[in-house]
Amino acid sequence: MRALFPGSFDPPHLGHLDLIRRAAALFGDLVVAVAGNPDKQAFLAVEERLALLRADCADLAGVRCALYQGATTAFAAANGCGVLVRGLRNANDLEAEQAMAEINRGNGLDTLLLPAQSRHLHLSSRLVRQVLQAGLPLDGLVSAGVAAALARRAVR
Ligand code: ADP
Repeated sequence: MRALFPGSFDPPHLGHLDLIRRAAALFGDLVVAVAGNPDKQAFLAVEERLALLRADCADLAGVRCALYQGATTAFAAANGCGVLVRGLRNANDLEAEQAMAEINRGNGLDTLLLPAQSRHLHLSSRLVRQVLQAGLPLDGLVSAGVAAALARRAVR
């Protein structure tokens, strides 16, 4: 079955990458999709996020990266995805994901929640942005490719 891993990925980090690897190993066919939400104040443009994800996933078999707007269930149906994959770090994630999963299940798409690895429990895109803004190294938070791209961006 083809699975869909949707998210903001603003920016992509090692917690996302771990989930992508695990979902790709489980399903063998994974679409990683950057949600372009016009209402959400973004750090990186969706095209930049997509480019970073593509570079991070370049060596992963069975993984394709894409952009979408609108309903996740509609994008999943249009792309032949039979299940959603989302990550769980804590009770807040659980509450939010349960509510969203209920809505998506009502629209024909069930969700598989994968727990974050303990070393990624505190990792979020927001943390990455804060560390970057403080001028601190991003080691252990993002891939070398994302760290280099964010560093280039910071000196622009
Ligand atoms: P959202 O899509 O909710 O705006 P993100 O783009 O940060 O937020 O996350 C996309 C997906 O990745 C979500 O399912 C989220 O739970 C998962 N995720 C985020 N951070 C981690 C992490 N550190 N470990 C595992 N999964 C994570």
